Amino acid sequence: MSRSSIRLAAACLAIWLASCQSPEPDAATPTHEQLIENRGEGKDNWWDALPRAAWAGFDAIDQSQSWFEVYEVEPGVFAIYEPGQFEEIISYLILGSENALLFDTGLGIGDIRAVVDQLTALPITVVNSHTHYDHVGGNHQFDDVRGTETDYTRNNSAGRAHDAVAEFVGDGWIWKDTPEGFSKDAYVSKPFTVTGPVRDGDVLDLGGRSLEILLTPGHAPDSLCLLDRDNGLLFTGDTLYPATLYAHLEGSDFREYTKTAARLATLATEVSTVLPAHNEPRISADYLTRMRDAFDAIANGEAESVPSDGAQEYSFDGFTILAPDPLPEP
Ligand SMILES: [Zn+2]
Repeated sequence: MSRSSIRLAAACLAIWLASCQSPEPDAATPTHEQLIENRGEGKDNWWDALPRAAWAGFDAIDQSQSWFEVYEVEPGVFAIYEPGQFEEIISYLILGSENALLFDTGLGIGDIRAVVDQLTALPITVVNSHTHYDHVGGNHQFDDVRGTETDYTRNNSAGRAHDAVAEFVGDGWIWKDTPEGFSKDAYVSKPFTVTGPVRDGDVLDLGGRSLEILLTPGHAPDSLCLLDRDNGLLFTGDTLYPATLYAHLEGSDFREYTKTAARLATLATEVSTVLPAHNEPRISADYLTRMRDAFDAIANGEAESVPSDGAQEYSFDGFTILAPDPLPEP
């Protein structure tokens, strides 16, 4: 398990804990203490991996907040990166000629609205890759927020109280100075209003650029990807990035994730670049077929695994997958 996969595992386990609705652990369920033992102060200076080499090829865009780093990673596509916190979350501002789409809104520690306003004057539509706390933090700053028609999205739109998210800004999670006016003691995931639905196959026309919605449940019930067919771009959120993929969380569904991986692999010939939501902004499209093959290998009992954090971890070239133990029935 690589450093990055360890810390991503810890991060998503924290999400799992924060959203866990099952307070009574049984014999196969790790205790809270077991789940958090890899996380926290002094365990791992995760920020020693920064800056990541993947960002070196891009020029940082001038903007006013040191909390964020902004890079134009494709023409008209800005990665808004928050390397100061453990998740290293990446939100993407995608420009058309008439409208802009903001794919995720980060942690809600900095003022992402101000970043966006410095990059474009176009009207903004927000779409979330899913509604884990690190992807929706700035949703409340926008008037047009589209969401899936799932209970999961509806429930998460109510926000999370301080107690549910305090640890994500606690010791070991943040190395950068936080913005003036931000208080760790008052950190919450603010509620937001979903102003319109997104459905599978919807096409959002930004003017000179169309983005297709692909509902891709698995990591979360409301996971989705954005496909820019004309430019060969696929924005994958937490469904695919080059570290540990989570198919074992509360709300995850291994079987749905396997179907999602198969579907995304069919795009491998027309997509040239995959843009994930953590760590680094561009990976090659061959990850799509490799992810499908990996899920199939696990489902068919052909992959080796080791126990990890109450799940099984399967290692592949460039990524690993945490899957529930035992696997759910097909
Ligand atoms: Zn997530």
